[in-house]
Amino acid sequence: VPPHARSDPGGNVRVVVRVRAFLPREIERDAECLIHMDPVSQQTTLLVPNDTDPANARARARKVMEEKSFTFDNSFWSHDTEDEHYATQEDVYDSLGEEFLDHNFEGYHTCIFAYGQTGSGKSYTMMGTPGQPGLIPRTCEDLFERIAAAQDETPNISYNVRVSYFEVYNEHVRDLLVPVVPHQPPYYLKIRESPTEGPYVKDLTEVPVRSLHEILRYMRVGDNNRTTASTKMNDTSSRSHAVFTIMLKQIHHDLDTDETTERSSRIRLVDLAGSERAKSTEATGARLREGSNINKSLTTLGRVIAALADPKQQHPPSRSRAAGPSTVVPYRDSILTWLLKDSLGGNSKTAMIACIAPSDYEETLSTLRYADQAK
Ligand code: ADP
Repeated sequence: VPPHARSDPGGNVRVVVRVRAFLPREIERDAECLIHMDPVSQQTTLLVPNDTDPANARARARKVMEEKSFTFDNSFWSHDTEDEHYATQEDVYDSLGEEFLDHNFEGYHTCIFAYGQTGSGKSYTMMGTPGQPGLIPRTCEDLFERIAAAQDETPNISYNVRVSYFEVYNEHVRDLLVPVVPHQPPYYLKIRESPTEGPYVKDLTEVPVRSLHEILRYMRVGDNNRTTASTKMNDTSSRSHAVFTIMLKQIHHDLDTDETTERSSRIRLVDLAGSERAKSTEATGARLREGSNINKSLTTLGRVIAALADPKQQHPPSRSRAAGPSTVVPYRDSILTWLLKDSLGGNSKTAMIACIAPSDYEETLSTLRYADQAK
């Protein structure tokens, strides 16, 4: 029996923000924390130089600051371990991952992605470290624990789990479970569309997994392949979107009628490319094209989420009132959103974790604005 469903007042899109601790280099330069989070209202406030000051440059130099506030479904304060409100990896999992897994066992698709500039804590949040595992390993652990418990309680339900791991780089798809061949260009997969299943990656490796140990091994294989390829290709990992997918199938065997019914759901866990705006100095030739392709996926994703969060999408206006048409969701405008179509919108549940660095107001403001339009 699937675990209890929680009531969900917030609709199908959840937007949360997480601020990380200072890195050694930030401590070295005596960086200032520009973020404040209110644990009661969940409001996140950023200090930015005052734009309205006529002498803007001088205002910056004199540090005339103003506050910009945003309210999200959750604000995770992971800046200061000493603080009583410090949000651990476990806290993030408990408030998001666990509930999303409930949804998966009920037969729905989910998608959680981390958005933010390079170095803001996306990989830490999704993958984590061996000592501080993030959302992906915790989801895997919980999944196999639930399966083990269910097998004792309801032996007439059997479970089948498979995983795939791919990255979208420059609007191309690469299989991360296929080893990188030295001295050969990366091999890209094609995208197809099936009338029943929708868009999918042709020939993508999907491996069956029976234990936490096995699934973590594939996760590491994929991670290593991503890093190896990215070292060869000039650190592309911060410029690619990594999509880890767990396919859960529950096969229910009715002992009275001897019939079986299946329930399938997909769990998508996505580490997005760095959201930093292309700096004009590097934005030439291939880099420029690559930059605009990354922006294309990120911009489209933002528009897709915003369209999904739009109340008109959930309650299209009735024809008789002759109101405007319900929002069109632009899935097709980028490879990433096209491939995630099944996990975004409809009955699927989506969460965006906006990751921010504590002392970079320009990129942080742009991340908070991006997250804000997704609410
Ligand atoms: P990104 O994936 O966005 O490029 P990372 O996840 O690699 O960023 O984070 C950059 C650095 O900050 C890493 O060294 C990571 O371990 C550290 N870090 C990120 N978030 C946290 C956090 N919440 N607590 C402690 N360290 C963190």
